[in-house]
Amino acid sequence: MGYSFENLPQLQDARKSLPIKGEYTKRTRAITHRVWHHSLTKKDLAGSTAEAFARYHISLGWPGCGYTFVIEPKHVVETKNGKRARIVYCHDIDRRTYHVGDSNQFSLGICVAGDYRTDKFDEATLASIAELHAALVKDKIGNVDTDKSHREMPGYAWKECCMFDYKAAIKYKQKADMPAAVTTKPAQCPDTYVIQEGDTFWGIAHNNEGITVEDLIAANPGVEPTKLKVGQRINLGKAKNVYTPMPEEPKKPQEYYRFPVPDGILKQGSKRDTVKQLQRALNAVYFKCGDVDGIYGAKTKDAVTRFQLVYLPYEIDGVYGPNTRKKLQAVLKSKGY
Ligand SMILES: [Zn+2]
Repeated sequence: MGYSFENLPQLQDARKSLPIKGEYTKRTRAITHRVWHHSLTKKDLAGSTAEAFARYHISLGWPGCGYTFVIEPKHVVETKNGKRARIVYCHDIDRRTYHVGDSNQFSLGICVAGDYRTDKFDEATLASIAELHAALVKDKIGNVDTDKSHREMPGYAWKECCMFDYKAAIKYKQKADMPAAVTTKPAQCPDTYVIQEGDTFWGIAHNNEGITVEDLIAANPGVEPTKLKVGQRINLGKAKNVYTPMPEEPKKPQEYYRFPVPDGILKQGSKRDTVKQLQRALNAVYFKCGDVDGIYGAKTKDAVTRFQLVYLPYEIDGVYGPNTRKKLQAVLKSKGY
């Protein structure tokens, strides 16, 4: 006999198809909490999917996607009850995935793809949240009344996760119940923070204090962003403005800069002078790509990929385009170029 959530028509069982590398260990405690997350990636972004999260989490050395369920607003499924956002079933319920640090053991992680600081809910997504919740309660996965947001769990009061009204969302029935925006702000960031299981610079950085991944890297020399250790203390509040790249595009024309960054899309096989500009810029910020030869070969692709891993973890494709350009410009600027 299975679980009732497995009968939801918008559920996709991806336990055997998502990228994995090894296996999460089995929980040694029963699940008491359902913990709600959002992905902090805009919901329409190509990388706002369980598959992209899985790939990114594997790149951090985890066994797979950090959540048991991912709800994907960009994938709408027609059901006999109407449109529903796809629910991706990523791991067996008894697997201790990494999503809420010290509480992973007894918490089920559910992520709604999107950045609900600015994204708005649609009915198909709300209906999927409510139906998944109802099924999990029926299946006795978690206690009846212990839904929590990420930031209601120990140590995470400062986190902007989830920034939607999950209490209204899980009760959603029809348009009239559309949840209002969350108005309570997360707590202020502590000066320092002790790494919990499954934390990442990307996850820690996005918060109301405006502390970026770049700030964390700069404020924590000697800490390897892809090899964070549980129990390691890092500068968090203290990292604010340490690196301070300007997010907006600079107003001056590119010729003005020592390392101009090219427009357009460049990818493996591209051969032109603008590739030289890209190579010079990558080398300048220590994402070494070898000789400046104007050929976008394996070394250049590798450098772009490594750059994306740090600065654009949900858009890792080794292709240089507008988002990579913007980040590269910001990093160059922060280095004083
Ligand atoms: Zn979260």
